[in-house]
Amino acid sequence: MVRTLIEEIELGSKNALLKINIIRYYINNGENTLADLGKEMDLSVPTVTKLVTELIEEGYVVDFGKQETTGGRRPNIYGVNPDSGYFVGVDIKHIWINIGLINFKGDMVESKFSIPFNYENTQDSFDKLCIIINDFVDHLSIPKPKILSAGINISGRVNSETGHSYSIYFFSEKPLSEIFQEHLGMHVTIDNDSRSMAYGEFMSGLVKGEKNILFVNVSWGLGLGIIIDGKLYYGKSGFSGEFGHLSAFDNEVLCHCGKKGCLETQASGSFIYRRFLEKIAEGNSSILEKRMKKGEHIIQEDILEAAMKEDMLAIELIEEVGNTLGKHIAGLINLFNPELVIIGGVVALTGDYLLLPIRSAVKKYSLNLVSKDSSIKLSKLGDKAGVVGACMLARSKMLGLI
Ligand SMILES: [Zn+2]
Repeated sequence: MVRTLIEEIELGSKNALLKINIIRYYINNGENTLADLGKEMDLSVPTVTKLVTELIEEGYVVDFGKQETTGGRRPNIYGVNPDSGYFVGVDIKHIWINIGLINFKGDMVESKFSIPFNYENTQDSFDKLCIIINDFVDHLSIPKPKILSAGINISGRVNSETGHSYSIYFFSEKPLSEIFQEHLGMHVTIDNDSRSMAYGEFMSGLVKGEKNILFVNVSWGLGLGIIIDGKLYYGKSGFSGEFGHLSAFDNEVLCHCGKKGCLETQASGSFIYRRFLEKIAEGNSSILEKRMKKGEHIIQEDILEAAMKEDMLAIELIEEVGNTLGKHIAGLINLFNPELVIIGGVVALTGDYLLLPIRSAVKKYSLNLVSKDSSIKLSKLGDKAGVVGACMLARSKMLGLI
């Protein structure tokens, strides 16, 4: 249905453009009366009435009836019809996938979290991913044609405009978004995972009116989503935010990008994992020791969980990451002068163990005048930030909101 509107816009229809602006208005500002909508959009009441009536007939807008007021006349309020279209969001993590579905209004109506998965740059991994997404869609309570678009988060370098991915699943010259479309049978856009998490937090998380925001994604890797003046910042080709690959150390640790000494090699979940195994081999103790001695394979999440059970070794490593990260976030604050720095990603699920050393290092290493403008907070959406962002990006891209 939205495609029809977009097609009309492409044909140069002024009414279609006004109608999509009304939909955007409702999405950004919520429900409203026709009189107020007219004022906000600088249109006469008869024009607004005509356009909204058409949008109701087309199924995009609903009349919610009389407004609840304490007397006087009570005009009807109107807003988007939640059922007029749906958007799928897919967040691929290191060892699992989260998938969600939002309605046209932006409410998450169905979701599936922590579906086991092996994120590797192989055809087999890609095929399994498509099977999982198709299976999710097949089991939804709404029919597939109601899904207008899907947003998929990809780690590393992604050009969301051309649909190319350069860090993972680059098997052909064809844009990855197109290959996804062929396998999934629906419209697909891709974006960088940290950018998508930032957008999730911006649209329905922690952000309450702030316009200049940095979202630091501390997961297996380290990423950054940048919002400037209320808009996602992409850079020329969509590669902005490669915070994890900042050359920060003289270490000999080979980063997965192919270089040595990247910030990510000492400030990420993969660092915590690597150091934890080394420390245990050196004879340090931990509550996970027994399992490891039995030959059991432990994962990053086991260590983060151990920290929540007050395991000193795990806590110390998270603090070390917090310190290192804080020092470099101080640099970001000096550069960007943001209102809000959000710390998210799986490592941030450990809360104060990561946040407090970050705050303390930021205080120590940033310019006080600059950093006193910035509050540093934990992500509100937690492990849902990616999937919420992916859904929201799918909708916003389709409606031309970003
Ligand atoms: Zn690197």
